[in-house]
Amino acid sequence: MGNIQIMDEWLSNKIAAGEVVERPASVVKELVENAIDAGSTSIDVFLLEAGLTSIQVIDNGSGMDEEDALMSFSRHATSKIHQEHDLFRIRTLGFRGEALASIASVSKMTLITSNGESGTHLELEGGHILTHKPGPLRKGTDLTVSQLFFNTPARLKYMKTIQTELGHTIDLMNRLALGNPQIAFRLLHNGQQLLQTNGRGDVQQVLAAIYGVHNAKKMVSFQGESHDYQISGFVTLPEVTRASKNYMSLFVNGRWVKHYLVQKAIVDAFHTYLPIERYPIVVLFIKGDPYLTDVNVHPAKHQIRLSKEPELLKLIEETIRETIRNIIRVPQMEKKE
Ligand code: ADP
Ligand code: MG
Repeated sequence: MGNIQIMDEWLSNKIAAGEVVERPASVVKELVENAIDAGSTSIDVFLLEAGLTSIQVIDNGSGMDEEDALMSFSRHATSKIHQEHDLFRIRTLGFRGEALASIASVSKMTLITSNGESGTHLELEGGHILTHKPGPLRKGTDLTVSQLFFNTPARLKYMKTIQTELGHTIDLMNRLALGNPQIAFRLLHNGQQLLQTNGRGDVQQVLAAIYGVHNAKKMVSFQGESHDYQISGFVTLPEVTRASKNYMSLFVNGRWVKHYLVQKAIVDAFHTYLPIERYPIVVLFIKGDPYLTDVNVHPAKHQIRLSKEPELLKLIEETIRETIRNIIRVPQMEKKE
């Protein structure tokens, strides 16, 4: 008899959780991305103690029927990709089918969901279903994750202060709101509202909600197009800068990403206008055929590989440079007259 055995599902879910569920913000990310993928127009996030005590996400999306609700906690269960072909044309935020199984395995979870025709209410502990009963018919999903890491004390020990954990979630919610101005978001912490957007599709309203009306008013819009990519967004003029690159938000087909060379292209567009070690506030939306973008680099999907990168970098640098130049040039010409 050999020694090798296939590990049981709960154990493998807990191992996967180590990758997907790093901290409360990672749970919020997965739950809110699911709500976005479900076509929600309104998403509310309620946190207690930065999410360490409880994270509740309520959406008005498609909801699930009973069978899907039960399936959603199985590893590799997804409604989003079915064939290898789909993997190279991903349009949804999720696709690994791992998040709910992983999160459920390290928390206590309540799922109340309805597709408008039937309602389901499930309660789980450590990934095991404890309660399964009919739920209300309100279309959408109401998912609560409480006592995160209750059964993985080693992970719990690594949580930072409430303020640090909350900071991660605020940054995340800001990015999700910016990337989805057509969705009304709310974030509440211990009853206090920290973010609210109106969901009317106006990026400047979201910028005002995040950076303040004063800064949002100082941002100018830009847009450009090359053979394979379209870009648009808002940028502050050199008079409003920040000491960190974190105020440069990049979205590729709606997904927030980190991309060093894109950030560099933005900074290069400012040329000498930007003080040393200072960066603009920017939101940049890049659109292109999903075939050109590979997000399957890391489970958190923050990194991205882009085809035709030089073409895109040139487009970004030139578009932003022209936008800034035009605006800086106009007032100077007015002065001369
Ligand atoms: P993935 O998002 O990668 O498919 P998840 O584990 O996050 O995997 O979710 C599993 C499945 O559960 C999803 O594919 C989707 O069908 C369903 N689901 C999860 N959250 C929601 C939600 N808020 N509304 C509707 N369906 C959901
Ligand atoms: Mg998901």
